[in-house]
Amino acid sequence: MNRKFWTSFYIFTFIIGVIDLLAQIQLVTPIEGVYGIDYVVVNHVDQDTSQNFIDAFCGTKSYNGHHGTDFVIKDFINMDSGVNVLAAYEGVVFKVVDGFFDRNKSTNPSKGFGNWVGIKHNMNNINYYTYYAHLKQGSIELDSGDIVIAGEKIGLVGSSGNSSDPHLHFEIYTDSFLLDPWDGPCQFTPNGNIWKDNLPYDTVFSILNNGVFEMPFYPNLDTIREPYFPLQEYNFNTKELKNPNIKTDSLRTVWFLAKGVKQGDKISAVWLSESLDTLLNYNYLADSDYWYFYYWTTLNIEVHSNSRYTQTRFFRNDTLLYTREVNSRNLGKIEVSESFPFKFFVNEDAFILKFKKGVNFDNLKIRSYDLNGKKLDMTMDVGEDFAILKVDINNSRFYIFEVVIDNQTYYAKCII
Ligand SMILES: [Zn+2]
Repeated sequence: MNRKFWTSFYIFTFIIGVIDLLAQIQLVTPIEGVYGIDYVVVNHVDQDTSQNFIDAFCGTKSYNGHHGTDFVIKDFINMDSGVNVLAAYEGVVFKVVDGFFDRNKSTNPSKGFGNWVGIKHNMNNINYYTYYAHLKQGSIELDSGDIVIAGEKIGLVGSSGNSSDPHLHFEIYTDSFLLDPWDGPCQFTPNGNIWKDNLPYDTVFSILNNGVFEMPFYPNLDTIREPYFPLQEYNFNTKELKNPNIKTDSLRTVWFLAKGVKQGDKISAVWLSESLDTLLNYNYLADSDYWYFYYWTTLNIEVHSNSRYTQTRFFRNDTLLYTREVNSRNLGKIEVSESFPFKFFVNEDAFILKFKKGVNFDNLKIRSYDLNGKKLDMTMDVGEDFAILKVDINNSRFYIFEVVIDNQTYYAKCII
């Protein structure tokens, strides 16, 4: 704390002349939507220049070396729907960077801002610079030199660059120093809260998102974050599977995403049978504060096959958060829709598409994807009324086939 006092003192003497001017800035919230519903702030500016970190309010909502504010949206589905990033103030665009992949799910500092926009502002002869980072690829419709007004759309939220989840990273500087748009007792550059909307400093626990994961494997954080590539339609076919040892539907995972988990919090999930017997009890003790926190638990329903459904009750410090009901019946055979002009089979080493009589498949196109939507290398041999597909296995037990026949697109999901 000593070191912080000295640093603050030094900077204070430096900026004392502009303090009033800073207080006059009114920034528009740089992301569309409602706080707590469409987005939340998970990281503030790190006010500590050592290896530690502290936010402006002397809390832990930051991490070492973080120079901005992170506005996080719920998930990739929201990102795909298009969440606008807005200019915080009128100004002139001085930098546009685009072209980077925008579905990153892990942090990698070497990737930096990804796709981003920089805007220069001037007020009372003081220059300000705002940065909008990790934008969606191809979503920036501005060029350097363009003039923007406050609140104008400058792009869409993405997960490009050093980003593990779709979010906007926002920074603001003057010519001389970094600003934190909030104002708190622990910050270097006191400036008065410069948010027009009076955005809160929020440490309240709440659940942002939750769901059930019904894939036949234990998910990891990536598959919970993005369970489906945004294809339109899926159809199972487990009927023809050759390996009888693989139960395709015996696992159920329930998960939630929360903010405001505090060190020492006990988060519990209790799985109950239809007759309310406890099937599984899962506890987690938070080892630090978490401002963006995924929690999940998986049950093998095969072991508990007497229940038609299970319910999972989630608790925080023994207070019930919510209950989620989960179908635990064996889903049985699910086949490719009868209306599809083909049937799907799985052979020892290939997938086989057998066309129904009279189907014209001259212009057949097939692509295959893994669970995360990554396109897989594939070879295709087309016979008289069938196609044999050989796919690069890619450690996956799960494939999505996109089949285009006569300009109609069909999706088949295969689990092996
Ligand atoms: Zn950030």
